[in-house]
Amino acid sequence: MKRIITPFIVAIAVGAIALIAVYLESHIRPQGQRNDYLWYDTLQKLNNLARIKHRQSLRYAQYAAYAEQEGLHNEATLLRAISQADAIQCQNCIKAIESLGGVHHVPISVDANMQTTRQHLQLICDEKSQYHSEHIHHIISQTLNEGNRYIARMLTWCDASDVEQILILRHALQQAQNTESKADTLRQCQYSVCPVCGKLSDKELSTFRCAHCMTSHEEFLIFK
Ligand SMILES: [Zn+2]
Repeated sequence: MKRIITPFIVAIAVGAIALIAVYLESHIRPQGQRNDYLWYDTLQKLNNLARIKHRQSLRYAQYAAYAEQEGLHNEATLLRAISQADAIQCQNCIKAIESLGGVHHVPISVDANMQTTRQHLQLICDEKSQYHSEHIHHIISQTLNEGNRYIARMLTWCDASDVEQILILRHALQQAQNTESKADTLRQCQYSVCPVCGKLSDKELSTFRCAHCMTSHEEFLIFK
């Protein structure tokens, strides 16, 4: 009798170990290995946006340093604030990519092709306007259709921050058009950037909490 029972016990033990191994393998394995193909299209677009934001942030910082050299401190302040806002948006994109199991590859950066500061402001305004009108709403719609409201909200923050930047840049360019002076064309201005979502505001007109993510104004990054 004992000779018959022992193989059964061994067989049951082996089966149990196999089931436990399968269970652990499916639950311990990183989410990314299972999800990256599920969110493939969204990940491609998020990666593209993160790479754009990364490059823009670095290029705008170079524009800011150049404006400072030209003696255009107020324009330099605006450019530094925009650079920081885009750096925060880039980090949010990377967090979203990682939450979906993807991997972000930092792009190679090249030095910006320098023109005048007014041309830099116009260039930023144009490229952000183009991305706003032609690209980002497609990505937001896609992520909403896939049911991923977290990513859609983060992308909406990016878009809303870009719109604020476009309005501030248009105002700055309008002021520049009204003067032939090569000195600072912007009035003395301070800007605040929300450290969570990257919302850029004229500091005087910023709300007590970020209108996008409710972060307290005490945490805002100030540029002056
Ligand atoms: Zn915010």
